Amino acid sequence: MDINNLQRENIKNLRPYSTARDEYKGQASVFLDANENSYGSPLEQNYNRYPDPLQLDLKEAISKIKGVPIENTFLGNGSDEAIDLLYRAFCEPGRDNVIVLPPTYGMYEVSAGINNVELRKVSLLPNFQLDLEGIAEAIDEHTKLIFICSPNNPTGNSIIRTDIETILANFKGLVVIDEAYINYAKQKTFIQELTEYPNLVILQTFSKAWGLAALRLGMAFAPRPVIDILNKIKPPYNINQATQNLALEALKNLTQVNQWIQSTVLEREALSEALKGLPKVKKVYPSDANFILVEVEQALDTYNALVEKGIIVRDRSKVTLCEGCLRITIGTPEENQNLVQALKSI
Ligand SMILES: *Cc1c(COP(=O)(O)O)cnc(C)c1O
Repeated sequence: MDINNLQRENIKNLRPYSTARDEYKGQASVFLDANENSYGSPLEQNYNRYPDPLQLDLKEAISKIKGVPIENTFLGNGSDEAIDLLYRAFCEPGRDNVIVLPPTYGMYEVSAGINNVELRKVSLLPNFQLDLEGIAEAIDEHTKLIFICSPNNPTGNSIIRTDIETILANFKGLVVIDEAYINYAKQKTFIQELTEYPNLVILQTFSKAWGLAALRLGMAFAPRPVIDILNKIKPPYNINQATQNLALEALKNLTQVNQWIQSTVLEREALSEALKGLPKVKKVYPSDANFILVEVEQALDTYNALVEKGIIVRDRSKVTLCEGCLRITIGTPEENQNLVQALKSI
């Protein structure tokens, strides 16, 4: 499978922007090549120099934790940027199509709309697993991407591994596995499979377990040809210096992050049990993520009553297969207790 033939013709022919830092990378005492302000920044810390376009120091630190080589790592301004760049690199507007598996993360559809790419929806089965036959029927020669979110948002379950492998082995386009919630899952990451499949792209993010949603930092792991294409078309300085510095600091605190993951998983199980005991609650779905999908009586009224009490959850009650459901993020033990108390009193 040749990834270079999968990309759009104009992308293949594109000559990327060459930054000042691309043209001179070495050490020097005087940098007068990028029209920066040589005096500094009106801040305690200086941000007057353009950041490293390829974020090599940060990727090195990520590589130590994830075990993925730097050349198989792409960093985006959130995973949302990686999603958008995959469309722009591989999907010819008005001609190509992608497959999504609803109910799932909304950005795949928004990005398709922005890029004028046809979206083919193959609904998950009632058990929230893949409809392999439906997916096979939806694929044609213009299908470039299939998005598989595992653990899936908003249902919370992991997708059966062998089903994903079936698609990876048979689909002639890219299979994008969105692992935003993988840190909370019993199922293991597909990172080890990167060397097996030329068409595998894995998305992860600093927005969830790492607690850095405001920084906007997402990761894509993929075979070298895919990464090279993403690097070719990305905005040159897509990860700002403040984010690169802060993420490097955060990566030194892996122990803290792992403790939070443990607590979140314990709280998830405790909250699920507590919710199951409430008369308003009809069903609590098992979760591999940091949220749970809960079917309640009169979902919209319940949602609004919680808002009245200052507790905001996500109303998913009109989403196909999630009828009557709220999606509840796992909070601190106090927050979860408040939620249970509030639900009891409604
Ligand atoms: C939250 C989330 C993300 C994270 O997106 P960022 O742009 O990295 O913040 C990605 N995918 C899914 C399914 C999510 O729920």
